[in-house]
Amino acid sequence: MTHAVVVGLGVTGRAVATALAKRNIAVVATEDRPRPEVRKFANSLGIDLVEAPSPTDLAQALDGAMFVAPSPGVPDTHPIFAAAQTAGVQVVSEFDLAQDWDTRPVVAITGTNGKTTVTELVTSMLQSSGLSAVAAGNTDTPLVEAIEDTSVDVFVAEASSFRLGHSARFRPVVGAWLNFGPDHLDVHASLEAYETSKANIWVHQNPDDISVANADDEVVMGHLPAATEHRLVGSNGAYRVVGSMLMANEVELVDVAELWSPLPHNTFNALAAAAIASGVGATFEGIRAALRAFPGIAHRVELVADFDGIRWYNDSKATTPHAVVAALGGFRSAVLIAGGSDKGISLAPMAELHEHVRAVVAIGDSADNVREVFGEFVPVVDAGSMAEAVEAARTLASPGDVVLLSPGCASFDWYENYTKRGDDFRSIVQALPGGNK
Ligand code: ADP
Repeated sequence: MTHAVVVGLGVTGRAVATALAKRNIAVVATEDRPRPEVRKFANSLGIDLVEAPSPTDLAQALDGAMFVAPSPGVPDTHPIFAAAQTAGVQVVSEFDLAQDWDTRPVVAITGTNGKTTVTELVTSMLQSSGLSAVAAGNTDTPLVEAIEDTSVDVFVAEASSFRLGHSARFRPVVGAWLNFGPDHLDVHASLEAYETSKANIWVHQNPDDISVANADDEVVMGHLPAATEHRLVGSNGAYRVVGSMLMANEVELVDVAELWSPLPHNTFNALAAAAIASGVGATFEGIRAALRAFPGIAHRVELVADFDGIRWYNDSKATTPHAVVAALGGFRSAVLIAGGSDKGISLAPMAELHEHVRAVVAIGDSADNVREVFGEFVPVVDAGSMAEAVEAARTLASPGDVVLLSPGCASFDWYENYTKRGDDFRSIVQALPGGNK
């Protein structure tokens, strides 16, 4: 009997292995850093686990394999890819497998920033239109697991470049690409490789599928397929803001003032979600209801305190300069707390809107880079902890300013993840005298 190879047993790898085993496909799993729980999982499923495989082990695991499914976080430089090529074994993603096994419609959302926000919005637009929809993919639930639920009408897949990059045939009925900026050079071999991975959202679409694109992003527009139905979002798109009204072609949706956030990038996200959801059955009424009810998501320009004339925002999820610029676009005078661990990308674009910045508090491993980027424009002070950063920001901010934690970097120098970073910031701010809004 032949078998499949699963590389890495994290959340997605385990879901893939489980789904394969359930379909009576033998699994050989490889794991570079096996932990006791991984061994336990492999044992319980009765699958072969190859720990910290050598090149010979990889070749052996691939021998006679039907396909190899790498976990999303496996870097492009991992020897498995060259080994698979040598062995002539196809690389597939969990999206490919889910679609092989289930024919219900999948919409997919990619982009450097905004994926989670738009995925949540689309899901609730579909739900408020009476459809059963779930978010899957780069969320808590991989798509191969989500398809177990037979009551679902539509799957809304948050599609990271890692998942798309290894997709061989994934075809969303609606595929949306929100924007493109440098990111993830720690996993992708180059910026081109990252761009090519994202472009995979549209590569396998049919003429009757819908491609939703950011009309104002040249990189995105450069990949728009010729054959599909196009829905363009942005200043020249059918989905745009006219005055203060969000429009879908000639249909009025809601006023910007009715959204959870007036920031331009969130107006864009709302329009993109409307373009996507209406492509797979959402009604305008459902779209409006979801937009009015959407509370926003923590750690994405989240207002955490408002006192002494200063508003404090937690944007810990901003791990790219692109996201920092989007947040700064919404404020006139910000004290910016930025820095963190390095993802191998230039921080220079962060300063694009330096005119919106009153001062910068530089934190973490990349504090020197942050200083270099902003130093010629505004005062920059260093802080050795989040508490120090908050204290420094309080001294630098004047009434009418905002304090914005929008790091532009990953969090792993000081924290386990961006959530912990944002939680820490929020609790320190809310513990300030008057901070508990
Ligand atoms: P992702 O899932 O792609 O990381 P999120 O919705 O979690 O996207 O948002 C990540 C960060 O990007 C947050 O700081 C958020 O404020 C910012 N952001 C959200 N939407 C956009 C957008 N359309 N353009 C630029 N930045 C955005």
